[in-house]
Amino acid sequence: MPRFDAREALRLSMRELPVYEALEDPVAIAAQYGVPAERVVKLDGNENPYGPSPRAIEALRGDYAPHRYVDPTQARLREAIAGRLGVGAESVVAGAGSDEIIDLLSRLFVSEGDRVVVATPTFGMYAFDASLSGADLVDVPRAADWSLDAESLIEAAHGAKAVFLPSPNNPTGNAVPAGLVDRLLASGALVVIDEAYIEFSHAESLAGRAASDASLVVLRTFSKWGGLAGLRLGYGVMAPGTADLLLRAKQPYNVSAAAEAAALATLQDTEALDERACRIAGDRDRLAERLEALGWVYPWPSEANFLLCGLALGTGLEVRDELRRRGIFVRYFTAPRLADHVRISIGTPEQNDRVVEAMRGIGEALASAVAGSGSGSGKEAAK
Ligand code: PMP
Repeated sequence: MPRFDAREALRLSMRELPVYEALEDPVAIAAQYGVPAERVVKLDGNENPYGPSPRAIEALRGDYAPHRYVDPTQARLREAIAGRLGVGAESVVAGAGSDEIIDLLSRLFVSEGDRVVVATPTFGMYAFDASLSGADLVDVPRAADWSLDAESLIEAAHGAKAVFLPSPNNPTGNAVPAGLVDRLLASGALVVIDEAYIEFSHAESLAGRAASDASLVVLRTFSKWGGLAGLRLGYGVMAPGTADLLLRAKQPYNVSAAAEAAALATLQDTEALDERACRIAGDRDRLAERLEALGWVYPWPSEANFLLCGLALGTGLEVRDELRRRGIFVRYFTAPRLADHVRISIGTPEQNDRVVEAMRGIGEALASAVAGSGSGSGKEAAK
């Protein structure tokens, strides 16, 4: 009798299922190194080290109804988000993380063979979802200083279905120049500006503009600024006609009752959260100076809640593992251009102190290994 063969049955675009390099479980890995859970400093996910707003925690203990389905039209949530941004509620769609909005955009608008433009190194979800849709991914790599290659991007955007650019970018930390967006919008492609980290930067949000410009979608999230990464709540701002399409295509109850309650409470506490984001940005700049002073770590200028650090000693993988041995988790990337880098999320001042101390020790060990091997000063500066 014939049997169902899952591999054979796969849709064509799924035959080469892409791999998204998601976060690992730090506590399980720390245990392998003999580091107790309470010593773990988790700086690999660009999360908020202070957690949610106290009001969100209170709301989660409160009287929301986990036994009821949520409102599939997201009326209260969209109204509250729109109020913060000064746009109409009809322009907002919430998802289980902004990841879900990227997925919805991709499923609605990207057909097999369509071109989707990204600029690596960048957030991997755009390429992941584009591959699931069977799109042709067009990469316009960033320059050596991670700036965007504006002319090539504009050329690639013409005839493409969508362009995805985070501003600030993950993992490089730099924002998209404002004038470039204008030029991209004239290409006819859907321009998606992902503002996941904008609360840590001085960049102007484009959310207001996205509400009325059908070519522009802005993505935002409660994961970073709001400290709600685990609850999954992000949203897109777009022209009402586009928002209608997303609302029709999404799973009806995509945002959980808990996430909705926490988000509504978070939006009652924006001043404190904005202040906290400002403090994290200040700590980021201080951490960058201290790491740079070590003489072998080169943090790139960042407008986000993380630092991409070039390394003049060791590889990104070696330094990540040495940090793990000390209970500190940072992100390392397999992309060849990032082999000599690690990305460090900004923690509390105490956590940042631990990073500096650990990096000092690692630098000394790596430098004496280089001296011992008689191979000179190691590498050229990795920056
Ligand atoms: N966009 C960017 C640029 C990100 O770095 C991330 C998270 N790593 C996301 C979106 C996804 O955020 P969310 O938790 O809202 O899905």
